[in-house]
Amino acid sequence: MAANNNSLQPRTAIERMDPYRPPSSDRGGKLRLDFNENTVGCSPRVRQALRSMPSDALAIYPEYQHALPRFAAYFGVTPGQLTLTNGTDEAIQLVVNTYVNAGDAVLLARPAYAMYRFYAQVAGARIVEVPYPADLSFPARGLLRKINSRVRAIFIANPNNPTGTSASPAQIKSLLRAAPRAAVVVDEAYFEFSGQTVLPWLAEYPNLFVSRTFSKAVGLAAVRLGCLFSRAVNIQAVRKGQSPYSVNGVAVALGLAAIRHPGYFRKYAAEVVRARALLCRELDSLGWRYFPSDANFVLVDFGSAAADMRQKLGERQILVRDRSYELPGCVRITVGTVRQTKKLIRALRAASETAGHGVSHADPARRIRRPQPLRDVIRNGSFRLRTQEK
Ligand code: PMP
Repeated sequence: MAANNNSLQPRTAIERMDPYRPPSSDRGGKLRLDFNENTVGCSPRVRQALRSMPSDALAIYPEYQHALPRFAAYFGVTPGQLTLTNGTDEAIQLVVNTYVNAGDAVLLARPAYAMYRFYAQVAGARIVEVPYPADLSFPARGLLRKINSRVRAIFIANPNNPTGTSASPAQIKSLLRAAPRAAVVVDEAYFEFSGQTVLPWLAEYPNLFVSRTFSKAVGLAAVRLGCLFSRAVNIQAVRKGQSPYSVNGVAVALGLAAIRHPGYFRKYAAEVVRARALLCRELDSLGWRYFPSDANFVLVDFGSAAADMRQKLGERQILVRDRSYELPGCVRITVGTVRQTKKLIRALRAASETAGHGVSHADPARRIRRPQPLRDVIRNGSFRLRTQEK
């Protein structure tokens, strides 16, 4: 039979999906403010750990039993309450694989991190989405209205990507209580910049899952390392369906090296928070709308000038991320160091002079609040910064 006579039929769920194309290539040598990564890289001690990995350690399949208690101690949980994951993306996939049957509902806010939808689609789940309001505040009430017994998973990024806005502790609690039959995942990928965490709530809420990543503040996006936390009984179920070697040994070694010296990435995160305030002040003075961000990026509404602004920044070798396909006129700008932000600000000033302020195109109902400084978040919120994390 001719080789091109392909009679293989993908699953219906796969056939229904559009292919996901990561919008990245040729990023080297530029100021990369498009993917919310660490803009200066991991600590020299982590690189040293990479250089000094013995060939023996590379020859064997990864072992996690010694690493798990060390990661657990760092995060202030027991080893049974966590599983290491191949980035947050695997954590999302694991929750879907463990709790969501084809035809079950997965509840999301829109816009949200794209991989929630992606893995729910692969599983053949029904995706129920609740739009953010114009001011991009967390749509808790809308989500609560959609909860019923068919909803088996709810994903909340806190703070959210691409909005940068956060859900309040009370809003998260209300969802946890309203959906006892659903796995409620609070994705804390930007924890180091927000200082907000619900990790101490594990004992209280049997349906709570929390995820963290080493891809953002820690600067290890390339090695793919994350953690998924929940009650031990839930983590046992999740591990049953997890590939035995999904996290590679290099990622484990570098993750351990990173948490041995957390001062390095905490200092970086603190600088990013300062730089974020600097950027927001500049956006204010240039007259561009933006949304209050608790993360290492700011979503800016350039209105009808968006494409022009992106192009002008690009001409100065500054990459930013177009979000206009979901939020018209919006561009997401990652915040790096103060020095990098000053370079960005110079480029923004020059681009704004000729771009004309397109805010008229933007929805006037989008009420803009200033981002809260980190110290106020910690003081005022009932979220606690995990002091156990040394
Ligand atoms: N969660 C959110 C909210 C994100 O924005 C991102 C990355 N953009 C991730 C998870 C991905 O994390 P990881 O690299 O650990 O898969």
